[in-house]
Amino acid sequence: MSRLITDDHSLLPFKLSGAARSAAAIYPFKTTEYYLGLVRHLNMSDPVFLQLAPDGREIEDNHSPDPFCEEEKTKAPRLIHRYPQRAVFLANNSCASHCRHCMRKRRWTEAPSVASVEEVKEAARYCQEKQIEDIIISGGDPFLLPGAYLDEIVARFREVPSLKIIRIGTRLPVVDPERVKRNMLNKLRKRGPLYLMLHYNHPQEWSPLGDELLDDMRRMGFLLMNQSVLLKGVNDSEETLYHLFMGLLQRGVKPYYLHQCDLVRGVTHFWVELTRSVDLLRNLQGHISGLALPYLAIDLPGGLGKVLLGPSHRLQKSGSRYKLRTFRGKDVFYGKEE
Ligand code: SF4
Repeated sequence: MSRLITDDHSLLPFKLSGAARSAAAIYPFKTTEYYLGLVRHLNMSDPVFLQLAPDGREIEDNHSPDPFCEEEKTKAPRLIHRYPQRAVFLANNSCASHCRHCMRKRRWTEAPSVASVEEVKEAARYCQEKQIEDIIISGGDPFLLPGAYLDEIVARFREVPSLKIIRIGTRLPVVDPERVKRNMLNKLRKRGPLYLMLHYNHPQEWSPLGDELLDDMRRMGFLLMNQSVLLKGVNDSEETLYHLFMGLLQRGVKPYYLHQCDLVRGVTHFWVELTRSVDLLRNLQGHISGLALPYLAIDLPGGLGKVLLGPSHRLQKSGSRYKLRTFRGKDVFYGKEE
């Protein structure tokens, strides 16, 4: 199993600048030996390095640390309820590797915690009471939980009659595939159909170990989806996205969302201008299998939910802001703060 590398900077095979150290003091550095091993150049030109290395720009922006009002929308312990029939359950708060673009990086300094049995029960009760149909078990990374306990959580949600869909969000197959235990998967497969929402952002994140795991998960009957984040300097080119999306499909993983990078404090240096994001999809359309083309998903600040854009979407702009319509039919203006 790959060793975890945390904020002991002396272990790093690269030097942090003063500004990067200041960023790491607020948003701690953490990764795995495996993920570090995918880096080819120890500098900001490398798409994997960019996703794991602290960067001084993280402490330069003034956006909200919680623009999606997750704290306010937490309606039962660890359960975020923002959409009528869908909810997110935060099973734990630890990750194997800190993705520098994480929308929950405000929580990285919290003490590690795992949902208690009582919290799971309460969340399940809430789902039944509100007739939630679709639950996403997220974190942190739920695949870091002991397999038997994750299985117990899934089992508890399976008992809720209103819940039709269960998804588990995990980045562990990307940052440390060896740590995904087959005995955990063997338990979970019996709770199927289960959607595993993966998080590959760049073709450099493929490896024989990761591919073997994907193959096993596919054969075990999991439904594999991927949610990439569009990240400036990492994957904001047609060529990279083409290879990423086709590579996913070839491995039996459906590219589900391409997330517009969230306008969250500490992350906005990764944000790609929205016109460019839609252009990327437009330029790929017709040159790539329709199966490989995901929606562009924009999570609107204010907890207003996601807006999904396709390659033919015509953006309306007012100054530096884009006019978008929420799923509730409300027009809002969206864009990076100057
Ligand atoms: S794995 Fe997910 S929750 Fe964890 S740091 Fe990465 S993006 Fe954030």
